[in-house]
Amino acid sequence: MSDAIVVGAGPNGLAAAVALARRGLKVTVLEAADEIGGGTRTSELTVPGLLHDHCSAVHPLGVGSPFLRTLGLERYGVTWAWPDVDLAHPLDGGRAGVLVRSMERTVRGLGPDGPAWERLFAPLAEDFDALTEDLLRPVPHLPAHPVELARFGLRALQPATTVARRWRGAEARALFAGAAAHLMHPLTGPTSSAVGLMLVGAAHRFGWPVARGGSRTITDALAALLAQLGGTIETGVRVDSLDQLAAARIVMLDTAPGAAARICGDRLPGRVRSAYEGWRHGPAAFKVDLAVQDGIPWTHEACRRAGTVHLGGTLEEVVRTEAQTAGGRMPERPFVLVGQQYLADPSRSRGDVHPIWAYAHVPHGYPGDATEAVLRQIERFAPGFRDRIVGIAARSTAELARSNTNFVGGDIVGGANTARQVALRPRVALDPYSTGIPGVYLCSAATPPGAGVHGMCGANAARSALRYLDR
Ligand SMILES: Cc1cc2nc3c(=O)[nH]c(=O)nc-3n(C[C@H](O)[C@H](O)[C@H](O)COP(=O)(O)OP(=O)(O)OC[C@H]3O[C@@H](n4cnc5c(N)ncnc54)[C@H](O)[C@@H]3O)c2cc1C
Repeated sequence: MSDAIVVGAGPNGLAAAVALARRGLKVTVLEAADEIGGGTRTSELTVPGLLHDHCSAVHPLGVGSPFLRTLGLERYGVTWAWPDVDLAHPLDGGRAGVLVRSMERTVRGLGPDGPAWERLFAPLAEDFDALTEDLLRPVPHLPAHPVELARFGLRALQPATTVARRWRGAEARALFAGAAAHLMHPLTGPTSSAVGLMLVGAAHRFGWPVARGGSRTITDALAALLAQLGGTIETGVRVDSLDQLAAARIVMLDTAPGAAARICGDRLPGRVRSAYEGWRHGPAAFKVDLAVQDGIPWTHEACRRAGTVHLGGTLEEVVRTEAQTAGGRMPERPFVLVGQQYLADPSRSRGDVHPIWAYAHVPHGYPGDATEAVLRQIERFAPGFRDRIVGIAARSTAELARSNTNFVGGDIVGGANTARQVALRPRVALDPYSTGIPGVYLCSAATPPGAGVHGMCGANAARSALRYLDR
């Protein structure tokens, strides 16, 4: 008999499993798919030999995660690799905002806006380690670093558009807008600057690295550590009900809240059921992987050295298109994220053919094909790009949801990032991980601190479960 059963082998499920196994519990992980990893997988998707990350690609919060940092994943095969430029955001007319880990180089590149960039982000990067201790936990807790948290909180409560107003040039404004757009929610609402502040702060603290060999090496390392701690993983096992599970003292659900409501059935207290069933999902991703001969011929040279390139034009354009996708309308020129992980990790390429990772922000459940819109956005800033494509694989919102039921309607961030759902996820509770059923916990990205490969949802949920066992 297992002491703990974890449903779902995404990074949060595996992090929860490791955290419990480290405390001596016998842990079994059950995964519906034929392979583990959820949003942290890598394989050949276009032409043989090219390695594509299915979902997560860039890992500033993986390197900076207070939990993952305690695991020594490097001993299990994780090697972080940094591109020369962390992020570039090209604009029409050949200009670009350029972000690198070095504050000095970034500030120099931003010209007259550089000093204002430094004033905002230098203290944030300095405080970053302290901040993650508080920010990667549920909102209701006694802060370990109240001064740093208050300083961050004052800015993070503001709309991204308000924060962006401190810069005059289009480059700095667009650079911040692109980072803030990872929120996948309108950039004019309260707290919409929080994700942008975190991601730029993380960039100046840790850079935006990739995992050498693909993001799946993070999954494989967590699985290897779990095996060493005596845990086991079974794939191809979909859990539809708690009744299906063998007896265990703890059950952790790395699932969306709606799925957790179905799995828990009548045992779920009514107030928790209505919170889980009322959980709102947000805009979706339309994923396009490409094999490109000689890479993308970006007009701006920094884009040719950038691990991540954001395509969405000016702040105003990004604000408009993000509002459209959140409102259910497909923009003609959607916000597109491009990953060139091979620049930091050449082992993913074959000769001069390189894997390109891209996705567009599209409306929730968007039924159409956004491939052409993605290609158009790249061509806009890299004329001649189409002639270099030698392989292409696209995944619609429905296909994303089929590949992983946590991506409801193609939502890849675990739920709409409304101010309420960011602060109180997945419900108003002192222990947001508890389902209200003794010993059963939710540990997916729908819990604090939210999306990303940092394992903190799993680690925090495991902490709640261990507190319950210690009672
Ligand atoms: C296109 C895309 C790009 C992204 N880019 C980044 C990035 O660059 N950096 C970053 O940090 N994050 C990124 N993310 C987000 C990141 O992948 C997720 O936030 C993260 O994977 C969430 O982890 P999780 O463990 O909560 O859930 P998931 O990774 O979704 O894993 C859940 C697992 O549980 C399994 N499961 C669900 N229900 C059941 C059930 N009933 N029975 C058994 N098994 C079940 C699923 O099959 C899945 O394997 C991206 C995501 C996508 C899709």
